[in-house]
Amino acid sequence: MLSVTPIPAFSDNYIWLLRQDSTPEVCVVDPGDAAPVIDLLEREGRTLSTVLITHHHHDHTGGLPELIERYSPRVIGPDNPSLAGIDETVGDGDEIRVMGRLLEVHAVPGHTLDHIAYFTAGIPPLLFCGDTLFSAGCGRLFEGTPDQMHASLARLATLPDDTLVFAAHEYTLANLNFARAADPENPDVEQAVEECRRARELDRPTLPSSLGREKRINPFLRCDADSVRRAASAHGDTDTSEATFATLRAWKDHF
Ligand code: ZN
Ligand code: FE
Repeated sequence: MLSVTPIPAFSDNYIWLLRQDSTPEVCVVDPGDAAPVIDLLEREGRTLSTVLITHHHHDHTGGLPELIERYSPRVIGPDNPSLAGIDETVGDGDEIRVMGRLLEVHAVPGHTLDHIAYFTAGIPPLLFCGDTLFSAGCGRLFEGTPDQMHASLARLATLPDDTLVFAAHEYTLANLNFARAADPENPDVEQAVEECRRARELDRPTLPSSLGREKRINPFLRCDADSVRRAASAHGDTDTSEATFATLRAWKDHF
């Protein structure tokens, strides 16, 4: 049985750890910091066999040099020449086998141009989406255009509703605060606020979420909902789904 657990890093990053009882070898996603990964591996007597990278930002890749030196793992990531340490570059449509599961690579440009997500079908399906899709939010547009991000999110939204969403940051409560403004009177948002507040009070992660849940609470996946379009219309163009997305993203940047 494959299990996925978070290794907290910095103030709000999660490095997702994939492990199986049958092997001491593990995989981590986006190790921005080596120390908490090494701590855990030492404690559990495990070794690092694979690293998955979603995009080049330092809080997702900063631990690579030390982890490579110590464990020589297979490092899989996007094709970006400025990103050192990747020995297996992957792109849209590629399939790779990791921890006994077949992972599909989806190009999801927007937050950065090199951003990719890893999806594996199965029970349940799993999605490692870095800084593209957050619970109740999405990544800032550092390199891509709103249309690119809108298309990337629309593509992720076609994955099964029971897909577990392993995002790279604990931003959920702040995102829900915005969701309340962008999707007022959505009872699912209010319920998520209660659930996530309770989780954070107990120092528990609000992740993984599921795609089905995100379709109900995430305003960036709800650009076609009347309530979202109405709220966004006070902040800019909402003539199309793409325009509503761009308006929401710009509004959130200053929220
Ligand atoms: Zn990032
Ligand atoms: Fe990040």
